[in-house]
Amino acid sequence: MPVILGALGAIGACVGSFLNVVAYRLPRACMSVVRPASRCPRCQTPIAAYDNVPVLAWFWLRGKCRRCRLPISFRYPAVEMFTAGLFVLVAMWTVGPLGRDAFLSPRAGQAWIEWGVGALVTGGLLALSLIDFDHYILPDEITKTGIIIGPLLAFAAPRFQHGSPFVRVLDSAHEWAPRVNALASGIAGAAVASALLYGVGWLGSKIFKKEAMGFGDVKMIAAMGGLLGLWALLALAVASILGAVIGLSARGFQRNRYIPFGPFLAAGMWLVMWFGPELLHGWLTLFARGRA
Ligand SMILES: [Zn+2]
Repeated sequence: MPVILGALGAIGACVGSFLNVVAYRLPRACMSVVRPASRCPRCQTPIAAYDNVPVLAWFWLRGKCRRCRLPISFRYPAVEMFTAGLFVLVAMWTVGPLGRDAFLSPRAGQAWIEWGVGALVTGGLLALSLIDFDHYILPDEITKTGIIIGPLLAFAAPRFQHGSPFVRVLDSAHEWAPRVNALASGIAGAAVASALLYGVGWLGSKIFKKEAMGFGDVKMIAAMGGLLGLWALLALAVASILGAVIGLSARGFQRNRYIPFGPFLAAGMWLVMWFGPELLHGWLTLFARGRA
């Protein structure tokens, strides 16, 4: 168990380190994500491999460049630790107890595929959140890729539609029904979500004469629909509530800062991936009480 846990944590920390690079370079169009090796932004010294170890390097460098002592933001190791934690959590939800059975049970293969999908989506959502937070953009490289691979991920891991795909191509008795229906729901979900939001955005811009929601947000929600089907609309609802609550309380601290919506969408999607039915139930209960 400690071996699996350590391995997952290490994978998560390395992915987190890559996400830091993506978040820094992707919005800077002239930079490739893979090359060149990272350099100190002030003294331009390339960062040696031993100073690039996720999480740990920040601590033995005491948060400063080895050569010119330029402070390195604590955000880098924080993102790495956060990603590591989420990867472990995702494994506990998809695979279950991380003991011997993690590889031996008859369901282990599918469970690890679900872990892979969960981890990939977690990474994508983190990258989008960081970039939107820093630059107020949601890059096409991630959102459009999400729209394309979303339905394929739904095929690989139908569980993220919680047993209720909204398009049913195959009868549920069919062996391939869960996967094929999830795939179809993903394609339809991406189309419906984007058409709906594009329409609302267009109408909003005509009525209020300004953009209520950026087109990047619409593409991100379409990508969410690609994996979640219509569950993406619940994710949008959760994101709106989180945005309203946190956005209003944050405004008290940072008055003039525009708060991007991407991180809330990411949180909404992530919560619906794991707790969709519970959140829907809570939502319906609240709604029923409001009407009583
Ligand atoms: Zn330096």
